[in-house]
Amino acid sequence: MPSTPLPCCAGAASTHVQELPHVHQFDFDLCQCTRCARYWVFAWREEQGGWEPVTLEDAARMQSLNGAELTAFVKSWATSFS
Ligand SMILES: [Zn+2]
Repeated sequence: MPSTPLPCCAGAASTHVQELPHVHQFDFDLCQCTRCARYWVFAWREEQGGWEPVTLEDAARMQSLNGAELTAFVKSWATSFS
């Protein structure tokens, strides 16, 4: 699990919410801050990882989708920073 501190609350733990599909060579995990409940996506690529902000709306969308629909959604979401 990510050991990088959350950008929102230093020192707060994160809860792993959902495993997301691999897209653009990234491995994504949807997480939530245990202190302020904000959602973050941890993006891994080649042993390096970082937190990416995700809106409440997008986090809810990710949790409602699965399979090919989830992959398509994450792919389009990830183009905003990859
Ligand atoms: Zn927080």
